[in-house]
Amino acid sequence: MTIIVALFPAVAEPEKPIGRPASMTKPMTIESAETVESVPKAEKLSILEQTEHSLIRWFVDRDLPKYRAKQVLSAIYQRRIDSFSDMTELSKDLRAKLDEQFYIFKTKTAESQQSEDGTEKLLLELPDGGRIECVLLRDGPRRSVCLSSQVGCAMGCVFCASGLDGVDRNLTRGEILEQALKLQRLLEPEERLSHIVMMGMGEPLANLRNVLDALDVARDSEYGLGISPRRITISTVGLPPAIDKLAEAHSPFQLAISLHAPNDELRTRLVPVNKNIGIEAIMAATERYFAVTSRRLTFEYVLLKDINDSPQCAGQLVKLLRRRTAMLNVIPYNPVPGLPYETPSSEAILEFRRILMEGGINVMFRQRKGNDIQAACGQLRRLREREPQIVTLNSHG
Ligand code: SAH
Repeated sequence: MTIIVALFPAVAEPEKPIGRPASMTKPMTIESAETVESVPKAEKLSILEQTEHSLIRWFVDRDLPKYRAKQVLSAIYQRRIDSFSDMTELSKDLRAKLDEQFYIFKTKTAESQQSEDGTEKLLLELPDGGRIECVLLRDGPRRSVCLSSQVGCAMGCVFCASGLDGVDRNLTRGEILEQALKLQRLLEPEERLSHIVMMGMGEPLANLRNVLDALDVARDSEYGLGISPRRITISTVGLPPAIDKLAEAHSPFQLAISLHAPNDELRTRLVPVNKNIGIEAIMAATERYFAVTSRRLTFEYVLLKDINDSPQCAGQLVKLLRRRTAMLNVIPYNPVPGLPYETPSSEAILEFRRILMEGGINVMFRQRKGNDIQAACGQLRRLREREPQIVTLNSHG
């Protein structure tokens, strides 16, 4: 696979606007799908696909005050209102108009799971039948959401459940935001979302435009979720041209690189797209990112028993990361049914940790969350694919 293919796995086939017969659809890019300018008025549109600008235009075109646009957006993103009829600050007539033109959510909650540690996971079904997973993590005062960026994944990491069947398509900005909103609605009224990690299904940098558009709303404090970019992490397999684009976007998000191996030979075995990229090129891209954003980088390392957990691997990691302003996040493998990989023993994990700490690496051994609910990416969807029935466990759909 070339880097180009890896970067744009699902963009080749443009999205069909929702709810329109195929014969009416014009080819259009994912970014331009469903803006108010491009779709006939008779069709309902997704309000989550609207930008602040496109919604203002909708109001202005109808001789309505433009401040109403932000009012509607903040009702959805900040006040967690799920239907236009509940927006009582608007006139009945306007509520009816909005309801005629827009819908808010498009996914059905096919399943929801709650772990003993407070982690909750949703399996959402899209109108085209695609399924995505998203997770809410409760950790002290933190309320983090882990979001998917694609249906499936094209990166092919051998130990990961998300990419076992390849990628179906990119998610739109509204579909990314919808995950955050559905999880936000699981919180108590006094709880607030505090962090976002783009660590669900898919490779966020292969869907950079839509991810950045969604994160613009996530960080907006006037009408959006109001989450600071330093509390938003984009996790990537490491695609240098897209890392450079992210730096150019001047959005100082936290960047996490899924390294998983200290040398190219082993990394290519675990993360096949590495073949055409290589660790050196990724390191150079992360340095450019750091130069522009001053954000400390995180490297992720999933520990797989007898594969990348040897003292030699730890020693090589020390050499690779020693002089960098970076944090190494070591994550014990969360076993995926049907895959042959295992979590290392506690002794092996401790020895690995000792070598890294003695080598002066800024290292964090992350605790696994949601173990009892298939919380690693792609696990729940995969499990359910083998069971033909969808059981609706709650009414969030
Ligand atoms: N494609 C992106 C983001 C999605 S995966 C990336 O590669 O970073 C988010 C993280 O979870 C990655 O570091 C990935 O390697 C890791 N991961 C995937 N499956 C896992 C599993 N079964 N156990 C532990 N971590 C896993």
